[in-house]
Amino acid sequence: MTDKPILIAGGRVVDPSRGVDQVLDVLMKDGVIARVGERIAAPKGADVFYAEGLVVAPGFVDLHVHFREPGFEHKETIATGTASAAAGGYTTVCCMANTDPVIDDAPAVAFLVRRIRETAKIRVLPIGAVTKNLEGKELSEIGLMKAEGIVAISDDGKPVSNGQLMRRAMEYASMFSLPVVVHAEDPHLAQGGAMNEGLVSTRLGLPGMPNAAESAMVARDLQIAALTGTPLHFAHVSTKESLALIRQARASGVKVTCEATPHHLTLTDDAVSRSRYDTNYKMNPPLRTEEDRQALVDALNDGTIDAIATDHAPHHPDEKALEFADAPFGIIGLETALPVLVDAFLPAKVLSVSRLVELLSTSPCRAFGLQGGTLAEGVSADVVVFSTENKTTFTAEALESRSRNTPWLGRTLRGRVERTYFGGREVYRYDESRRRPAAAPASR
Ligand SMILES: [Zn+2]
Repeated sequence: MTDKPILIAGGRVVDPSRGVDQVLDVLMKDGVIARVGERIAAPKGADVFYAEGLVVAPGFVDLHVHFREPGFEHKETIATGTASAAAGGYTTVCCMANTDPVIDDAPAVAFLVRRIRETAKIRVLPIGAVTKNLEGKELSEIGLMKAEGIVAISDDGKPVSNGQLMRRAMEYASMFSLPVVVHAEDPHLAQGGAMNEGLVSTRLGLPGMPNAAESAMVARDLQIAALTGTPLHFAHVSTKESLALIRQARASGVKVTCEATPHHLTLTDDAVSRSRYDTNYKMNPPLRTEEDRQALVDALNDGTIDAIATDHAPHHPDEKALEFADAPFGIIGLETALPVLVDAFLPAKVLSVSRLVELLSTSPCRAFGLQGGTLAEGVSADVVVFSTENKTTFTAEALESRSRNTPWLGRTLRGRVERTYFGGREVYRYDESRRRPAAAPASR
């Protein structure tokens, strides 16, 4: 059965990959972008979506999610995680290896790829572990995992504290043309920390993680990258010191890219205090100070940051209900990302729509050498249609994720994903009835 062609008419097409930002029509046919142009006639039998006032862009690409399958399906599965991604405008995500079992050998990747094929709504690209069982002792089967389809290696969630092992991982990664994704943390400097080390942690009496716990490891791994020539990607950069090191290394020729999360870009450690220890403000790296946050925002525009990634980290309510010091790190992020960023940065003119799309789609693809991030004719029709004016209310009923750990639950923000298309098929459509807190429970 072939899908009906879909014509998205009259939207503001923003495609940073080709420098396009104008009102155009987009025709999707046979799974690909058939044409982008002015006043395209709808083919016979086509569905037409009038997108006046809406932005039409290449589907978002998240380099950093945790889907918890296999092993922690009570938090998230590939099915619920990709439904959440589609609702957030994402058409490609890269999932981290810290599942149970860890994705550290060829059979584990093969299993994951099969589950993705069977249950995913959008494209999911696996990331393999750097070390066996994320133990930081022995390298995983990097080459064999590449043959099964991994797109990068990372021990995310844990740092690779042994520098010699990191060097060897980078040398192997180079041979197989895989980027190494670094969770930069000196485990000894960060040990026992529950939040950012600073005035707020002192006032609250919570153990802190200093900025140096991140930047010391960034410095080490940049040095090793310079030694090996391997492309390095820093996950969830959170400090001004890390940004300065990355800028400097890049200027001296080191192949380095990095990402920041919506929460580090919009929140500070003050939120832990104001929320009275709400564990939805507990993440690793922790929310930092306003000075660090401002440095991250500046780095979005000066090009130091290549990608906005969510670090989507679902946890069961019972786990997040623990005391602040004992609760697990992380929040879900796929469904909140666009409204959080639009609300914080577009009205204030901190970011342009085009730069926002570039950071969410085109530039992440470039960082990992992935296909996508473009509306060029002939590519897979992965498209997001969103509003910069309409608002989104985050209700428990409307979230597609299996988990609810987000500080934005119950909040209403400007910005809304209206439709998501993957391979020319609609995989998400905004439904107002599921956003009203008073409405009858939506059938799922
Ligand atoms: Zn991490």
